Amino acid sequence: MDFSLTKEQQNLQETLREFCLKEIMPIADKIEKEDKIPDDLITKMGRLNLFGIPFAARYDDLDGGYIGSTLVLEELAKASGAVAMLVSINYLAAIPIDLFGNEEQKKKFLTRLCNGSAIGSFAFTEAATGSDPQSIISEAVIDGKEYVLNGIKRFVTAADMDGIIVISVHDGKTISAFIGEKNIKGYKVTKTWDKMGMHGISLVDIELENYRLPLDSLLGKSGDGYNILLNTIAVGKLNTCAIMLGCMQSAMEEALKYARERKVKGKSMTQFQSIQTMLADIAVKVTAARWLTYRLATLVDRKQDIRTESAIAKIFVTETAAEVARLAFKVHGAYAYISDYKIERLLRDIYLGEIVEGSNEVQKAIVAGSLLNYVRMV
Ligand SMILES: Cc1cc2nc3c(=O)[nH]c(=O)nc-3n(C[C@H](O)[C@H](O)[C@H](O)COP(=O)(O)OP(=O)(O)OC[C@H]3O[C@@H](n4cnc5c(N)ncnc54)[C@H](O)[C@@H]3O)c2cc1C
Repeated sequence: MDFSLTKEQQNLQETLREFCLKEIMPIADKIEKEDKIPDDLITKMGRLNLFGIPFAARYDDLDGGYIGSTLVLEELAKASGAVAMLVSINYLAAIPIDLFGNEEQKKKFLTRLCNGSAIGSFAFTEAATGSDPQSIISEAVIDGKEYVLNGIKRFVTAADMDGIIVISVHDGKTISAFIGEKNIKGYKVTKTWDKMGMHGISLVDIELENYRLPLDSLLGKSGDGYNILLNTIAVGKLNTCAIMLGCMQSAMEEALKYARERKVKGKSMTQFQSIQTMLADIAVKVTAARWLTYRLATLVDRKQDIRTESAIAKIFVTETAAEVARLAFKVHGAYAYISDYKIERLLRDIYLGEIVEGSNEVQKAIVAGSLLNYVRMV
């Protein structure tokens, strides 16, 4: 067991810190207010190979693995949760292609996702379900040399941005996954949701109406969709943990800064024992969450089965992030409620963690199922 980062990982962290300081922190408020990540920032992140880090050994020259991508998302999220989410959604589209795609599909789609020239999306959720794959009703049928997809996908991150989308649909018998291009014939964005947080990255519904894909768009085999979904989401939970880790580290820094600067009755707030206790509680929580996240990243890099481990980490890290945000919020007193203060944004961003990649209630069902030693479909 080795808890230290390698020289290369430390260099990556350092590069990211400089990049965030120069390129993201100065525009984080603008991203929040305008609800848009500038195109040139995406180009710069592509040049730095940030979109390809987990798959790098195979698709470009920077080998970071999942420890690398965890460090990337953590650093990006300290500056902007939305920017980190954009990168993580690219990973989420790339993961199933990396795990289940054939060489042709990897060449065609992964290269573009890894260099950032295509923005990825992953569409599972529908109006009737966010948790149960058996309830999916959008469907694919074969027509000659093509699949024809019809249906509506709800809450798809970045699905309005040009690029590549992995879609789970019913193929008549069971769930299958397909790789397609966004914004082509038969693909329509029907609603853009106004979210509570993570402003800068869009959340939309898409309608597929006679959306035609060549037969070689099928990922894996017909009926592999459920397995693809479970394995993709398992790694997706690592990305969520990494983003929440960055957000809570940022909340801790904001709480420390505020406590140091604010005077109450002429005394520094840091002299109050109650404030010290809150700061200590925050530090304990951030540290525990960090090591659970890094451990999960190590398991992914070792290609171990992480379906239960990722649920455990996701529950702990996202719930801890919410507790840290609340403590940091309390340290700020009334100013926490004012949107000029970063803690207000962090609290809103952090609340997402407990919902995405399967709600924490569903994660608890996975952990309990594993504990009770039976496999069950949740
Ligand atoms: C900002 C944002 C981004 C998102 N991005 C994407 C995306 O890119 N792609 C995508 O496909 N989806 C995305 N989603 C959707 C999201 O992943 C799901 O909506 C989420 O997993 C929960 O689904 P639901 O609320 O529809 O839950 P439902 O399935 O409707 O469940 C309702 C309630 O029942 C509980 N529940 C359900 N099943 C169980 C169970 N077995 N045991 C215990 N409790 C259970 C749930 O916890 C929930 O509280 C996004 C959502 C948000 C808010």
